[in-house]
Amino acid sequence: MLVKVLGAAAGGAFPQWNCACRQCQRLRLGTFAGQPRTQAQIAISQDSVSWTLLNASPDLRIQIEATPQLWPGGSSLHSPIQSVVITAAEADTVAGLLSLREFQPLDIYATPSVLRILREDNSLFALLDRVPKQAVWKEIRPGAEFTVRQLRFNPFSLPGGFPGFVRPDRKAELDADEAVLGMFIESPSGGRMAYLPGVANVEDSWREWLDECDVLLFDGTFWTEDELCRVRGGGKPASAMGHLPLSGPCGSISALRGLKRPRKIFFHINNTNPILDESSAAFAEVRDAGWEVARDGMEIEI
Ligand SMILES: [Zn+2]
Repeated sequence: MLVKVLGAAAGGAFPQWNCACRQCQRLRLGTFAGQPRTQAQIAISQDSVSWTLLNASPDLRIQIEATPQLWPGGSSLHSPIQSVVITAAEADTVAGLLSLREFQPLDIYATPSVLRILREDNSLFALLDRVPKQAVWKEIRPGAEFTVRQLRFNPFSLPGGFPGFVRPDRKAELDADEAVLGMFIESPSGGRMAYLPGVANVEDSWREWLDECDVLLFDGTFWTEDELCRVRGGGKPASAMGHLPLSGPCGSISALRGLKRPRKIFFHINNTNPILDESSAAFAEVRDAGWEVARDGMEIEI
């Protein structure tokens, strides 16, 4: 299978429009030793003809235009993008669905709880239902394997909860296990990828199956627990946002040090994270620990 990283940043992108942190400012001024990044977005294909998106980022339109494999072919309306698998109802993971209107047929996979948030509470998404069989909404559940365009998806529940915009009375009706999904994806030839952009904690039981993967796309949001507070003077700790920091004795670099098989890639990187700066000690530490830092346009063959 072929995996394209269309966007490698966390929500807000790099630089973030309203962020004047040192990294965002240096990037704008052209004095930063690293690249800009759009918001987290993956496209995946078994045959390089039909593509499945993992989530739909707010930057999706420009990400598609930056990726020739995703340009329309033929002479009229067409798209190689045929399916979207949604792993949470956050603005960062669903806003791009609105860029996929224009009467394009699309299979959209999400948990029943996420589908209720999108289709019953947010009438704007009815833009995708303007003609029969435009969007075909398909229910997925943690623990229940499903196949999209020859690729097998195994979704599993991650802690994280529903987005803050969901009303408390609605939240009470939804299944918390359906709020945030991780994905284990397998190709017909046995290539395996784990997609874990938001991880609060590495469970002991994960190490065995993670070591059976060829590629690991893992939560690279924050370097330290207090990063937002330290860099911006405010904001929640990493753990309160459902993200395990990379550094320190309890961080993800340390927790996953024993993995032997997978190509390990940090993905979903916040603009405050020093691993974006290729001249930083943090970047050197990540590289020395055998990790890569995802960047827009990265192509991974599994
Ligand atoms: Zn910033």
